[in-house]
Amino acid sequence: MTGHHWGYGEDNGPSAWYKVYPIAEGNRQSPIDIVPADAVFDARLSPISLSYNNCTSVSISNNGHSVVVEFIDSDERSVIRVGPLENMYRLKQFHFHWGGKGCRGSEHTVGGKTYASEIGDEHRALHQITDALYMVKFKGSVTDFKGFNPKCLLPNSLEYWTYPGSLTTPPLYESVTWILLKEPIYVSEKQMGKFRTLLFNGEEEDDRKRMENNFRPPQPLRGRTVRASFK
Ligand SMILES: [Zn+2]
Repeated sequence: MTGHHWGYGEDNGPSAWYKVYPIAEGNRQSPIDIVPADAVFDARLSPISLSYNNCTSVSISNNGHSVVVEFIDSDERSVIRVGPLENMYRLKQFHFHWGGKGCRGSEHTVGGKTYASEIGDEHRALHQITDALYMVKFKGSVTDFKGFNPKCLLPNSLEYWTYPGSLTTPPLYESVTWILLKEPIYVSEKQMGKFRTLLFNGEEEDDRKRMENNFRPPQPLRGRTVRASFK
C-alpha cells in the first residue's frame, strides 16, 4: 500500500492501513464490538437533541470509498446536542458502509452480531437515497441531492451507547466521540442491492470493482469504557 491509495482490497484494506497510518494500532481505534452487558449506565448522559428541521442536504457523491450525502454546515440549521458532547455539532455529511452479503457490513457490532441488511420492512426514507445511487455509480461523480432530512433515517428510540474512538477510515484520527443508537433501522435486500451497483473505480478505469465490503472490522477496546444512556 502506497501513499493515499488505501481501500478495502486485499493489498490496501484495513489490515494494511497501519503501514501508512501507524495510529491504526492506537489505543482508541474504531469501530469496536459493543458488549451490552459490559456497558456502564451513566445517568449524566442526557437525551440526544437534534434540530434537523431546516436541515439542508446539498449533494450525493461517490468518493471511491463510500457514498456520501453532504449538508450545508455554514450555519446552525442542522445541529446535534447530546450528553457526552459539550458543544453543538453541525451535520456535515453522512455516509454508509456495507457488505457483499446480506448479513454483514456494519462497522460497529453489538454483542458480536454484525448488522447490514436485516430483512424487514424497507426503510422508506432510504428510498430517496437508493433511488439516486444510479447517478453516482463511479468514483468522483456528484449530483444534486436537495431537501433530504436525515431525521427520517433515525429509529424511534434515541437511546445510545457512547465511547471515545476514531475515524474508521484513514487517517484514523482518534478524535471521535462515537454515539451509537441502540435501535437499528431496517434496510431491504433490494435496497442493499442498489448500494452494490456502485463502483470503487472512476469511469475511465477499466478494472471495475463493485463497491462492497467497505467496512473496517472491530478493533481492540484497550481498556475503554462504553457508557449507556439507558438501563
Ligand atoms: Zn464511516
